Amino acid sequence: MATKINEDCFRCGACRAPCPNEAISRGDPIFVIDPLLCTECVGFDDKQACAEVCPVDGCVADPEHVETEEVLIERARALHPDIDFGENYKSRFRKGE
Ligand code: SF4
Ligand code: SF4
Repeated sequence: MATKINEDCFRCGACRAPCPNEAISRGDPIFVIDPLLCTECVGFDDKQACAEVCPVDGCVADPEHVETEEVLIERARALHPDIDFGENYKSRFRKGE
């Protein structure tokens, strides 16, 4: 499930830098996440980095874009062909394992 930004966003910009995929851009009236670039941080983190830094809980799961871990890690691999993620990559799906 890709992450999206909700109407609580006040455009502080804090979520952009932590995104490993440059999926977040400055929209109007709120910032927006490109679902074709969002991997829910799979491959890089065991949580959604944007949601971690947002001061108003503006980065939330998008029910319109439900995706499996397999789809998300394949997207990460396609976006970052220079990185060898291996099989023990970080993923929110594996959190607590
Ligand atoms: S961190 Fe939250 S409030 Fe700030 S731009 Fe991102 S979504 Fe909006
Ligand atoms: S969940 Fe991760 S990959 Fe998706 S927009 Fe947020 S920081 Fe970027």
